[in-house]
Amino acid sequence: MRKPIVAGNWKMNKTVAEAIDLAESIKRDLAACQKVDVVLCPPFTALSAVGNVISGTQIDLGAQNMHWEKSGAYTGEISPEMLRDLFCHYVILGHSERRQYFGETDEIVNRKAKTALALNLHPIVCVGETLEERKAGRTNEVVEKQVRGSLADFGARGWLESIIAYEPVWAIGTGLTASPAQAQEVHALIRSVLQDISDEHVAKSVRIQYGGSVKPGNAAELFGQPDIDGGLIGGAALDASSFIDIVLAAQETA
Ligand code: PEP
Repeated sequence: MRKPIVAGNWKMNKTVAEAIDLAESIKRDLAACQKVDVVLCPPFTALSAVGNVISGTQIDLGAQNMHWEKSGAYTGEISPEMLRDLFCHYVILGHSERRQYFGETDEIVNRKAKTALALNLHPIVCVGETLEERKAGRTNEVVEKQVRGSLADFGARGWLESIIAYEPVWAIGTGLTASPAQAQEVHALIRSVLQDISDEHVAKSVRIQYGGSVKPGNAAELFGQPDIDGGLIGGAALDASSFIDIVLAAQETA
């Protein structure tokens, strides 16, 4: 039985004071949440403050990106060691916005994920097709290539420590959601690719989140699919009550 995981990706939103407020509101309801792994991913500038708010609770801290080196001359970058220093346990890697606006490739994502794993950070590796790719019937081909490239050569321990987020690019921040059946089909495909690159135990154990306009109103049906293990939440994670309701929907499936 896989434990659902719901992560809030706050993207480039919230000042430190706003982030503290949001984290405090989420903590009021979810501090003791046991059945779902809850992760808050504020911007870098608010990691420390949010970490203080959720310290001692069941809620974990995650970052939205990191560099592939542990330290060095990379002006403006943030290293995985720095994230560990702030008690981050998770890091989102290869989000479609990073792939689209910052040129991240599967090779870069793979390099980052391997460094994250070496430092005991759980990578949340994002994959997903664009609208053009879906319309051209290329969804499976595109997602399979991303999974093979981004998660190459992790080894069994590395795969088991990783989370995959299937996020159709056309559903992110658009209000369009993959239907539960569409999402389930791709999640099942991802498991079959995992089986091919690793083994059955890994394929059955790795948690695969769905992301793309998840809201309280559609979360239960999505999370009820057999291969969907919670969600990566963008817009709805910026509102405490929406995020809490989405976590509660995941709890129903646990
Ligand atoms: C995301 O950015 O990972 C995401 C899923 O965003 P939204 O929920 O707003 O579609």
